[in-house]
Amino acid sequence: MVLHVHNVTKSFGDYTAVNELDFTIPEQEMFGLLGANGAGKTTTFRMIIGLLRPTKGEITWKGQQIDQSMSSLIGYLPEERGLYPKLKVSEQLLYFARLRGMSKADANKEMDVWLERFKVPEYKNKRVEELSKGNQQKIQLISSVLHKPKLLILDEPFSGLDPVNVEMLKEAVIDLRNQGTTIVFSSHRMEHVEELCENLCILQKGSPVVAGHLKDIKRSFGKKNVVVHAD
Ligand code: ATP
Repeated sequence: MVLHVHNVTKSFGDYTAVNELDFTIPEQEMFGLLGANGAGKTTTFRMIIGLLRPTKGEITWKGQQIDQSMSSLIGYLPEERGLYPKLKVSEQLLYFARLRGMSKADANKEMDVWLERFKVPEYKNKRVEELSKGNQQKIQLISSVLHKPKLLILDEPFSGLDPVNVEMLKEAVIDLRNQGTTIVFSSHRMEHVEELCENLCILQKGSPVVAGHLKDIKRSFGKKNVVVHAD
């Protein structure tokens, strides 16, 4: 196991957003965090990447407590996308790659590979605000993986995308997993989790309802009941 979320609780004042969450993820696995709006997925991710400190419990990567000094290890696609609209795509990608310690030459080489892969090489010199939402999301994903993180956290990566872009992003994350990246992603749609993950955790109002192997969960709950929220 490389990622261990060990009995983690996060409270904001009197309000508990995440309550005694506990799961482990082996290397090179894709793990799904499923829950309706407000279930505590983003709060969990912010703790995993070291942006928020758990009120109780701890989160470790290979036995070491995660903090902000480990930022080059982690890639994060936030739910509220964090692109700078006035920057050119290349400037945006270079900015984040440099923050994570990449050389300019490596960042440029990698961004060309990814822009080709997502069939948007011509957007390299366009400003972010000129791109459609779907294409902005591709750029955001590229920005989170350019530095080849070992752990990739994707907050609702498929929301707001058309089916063609959903498929393109799914293929990309499957490839990243196959190349050795450990991935945790959130969704409120069971079908995304079902297709991509072996293990998952379902959160409801901050508390884990169930965590474990997809097959076991489906066996004990029945497929219909596992759908926590319809779009
Ligand atoms: P969504 O997809 O809607 O973002 P989520 O599952 O990601 O849902 P969170 O964003 O983690 O849920 O929020 C869980 C709960 O914690 C919500 O009720 C939210 O209002 C609350 N919350 C999150 N951050 C804070 C904060 N900084 N202060 C107070 N309450 C917060």
